Amino acid sequence: MRIDSIDVYRLAMPLIEPFRTAYGDACVVETLVVRMASGCVDGWGEATPWASPLYSGEWAAGAFQLIRDWLAPRLVGRNFREGRCVQDALASFKGNPFAKAALDTAWWDLHASIENQPLWKIVGGQSPRVEVGADFGVQDTVDQLLERVDRAVAEGYKRVKLKFRPSWDLPIVREVRRAFPNLCFHVDCNAAYTLRDFRVFESLDELGLAMIEQPLQHDDVLDHAELQRRIHTPICLDESINSLERARQAIDIGACRWINIKPGRVGGITPALAILDLARRSGVPCWIGGMLESGIGSAHCLALATTANIDYPSDIFPAGRFYTQDAAWPEIQLSGPSQITAFEAPGIGCRPHSGPFERQVVGHCRLEGNCS
Ligand code: MG
Repeated sequence: MRIDSIDVYRLAMPLIEPFRTAYGDACVVETLVVRMASGCVDGWGEATPWASPLYSGEWAAGAFQLIRDWLAPRLVGRNFREGRCVQDALASFKGNPFAKAALDTAWWDLHASIENQPLWKIVGGQSPRVEVGADFGVQDTVDQLLERVDRAVAEGYKRVKLKFRPSWDLPIVREVRRAFPNLCFHVDCNAAYTLRDFRVFESLDELGLAMIEQPLQHDDVLDHAELQRRIHTPICLDESINSLERARQAIDIGACRWINIKPGRVGGITPALAILDLARRSGVPCWIGGMLESGIGSAHCLALATTANIDYPSDIFPAGRFYTQDAAWPEIQLSGPSQITAFEAPGIGCRPHSGPFERQVVGHCRLEGNCS
């Protein structure tokens, strides 16, 4: 279809409580939402690199500029029949997967909307029902964490994920294991350690975790392969997997036994589907992660989570978990314990919720067809 116009919005979304990880404590999440129009149909995409380049080398204000000045002009006014063609048009620009993902995801919603099918069916999902987990950042006290984990267990969550950083690491995890001997849980280190911290992982190995997420450097696969050879607990890569090529390299050298796939981090739905396919053929199971997107981005994650080879509850959250008012409508809600069901409406099934969305916009630009 021909892309007639592209609108790019930068949003600052205030969190209900600070989200504390190895990268620091965040009170606001910055995200990019893209509207792509073709004729009288539009599609919406989102990528959430956050306000500063802490998770990866990208940040929201930079990605906004990049899309406005370089990426969107390559797409607007042109026809794209497949997501692969959108990626090809952007391929000469190196890196910047979040910026590319904002456009790629909008194209997929537009495509599914024109086909009058829910996105989860278009990407090959088998059932709209997706298993999701509970996720807890660093808390003020261990007791506070134990209380929240206890509530998650009582609510029927099938797995729990804990953020893990120096000063909030082994002793905390030991307490959780002591209190919940049978709990399925894992830790996410957000790249805070190196091989010099091997003793930490050797000790974690005794605690029966489902996996250890991104223990080492954000762009590493070699040291992860070394660590995986020395511990039994499966390593799950997140930050390190930012392209299909990097996923292939990681799998080939045994750097991980799980992959957390985030459409933003890998460049959109198109590369995410390619990585899912590669991982399935290689016997490496996956799950879908998130960046605390609004409902727009979460709905894209939901569609991906309906596909084959997703074997662990994903990081997709009901509206209200992190934000007082979600920027999208209808809001994503639990459809059962530890379960969310993707919308049946065409595309991602939700759109910006005008009041909350507009209140959070801190930047906007529009490109039209004659710009290419
Ligand atoms: Mg992670």
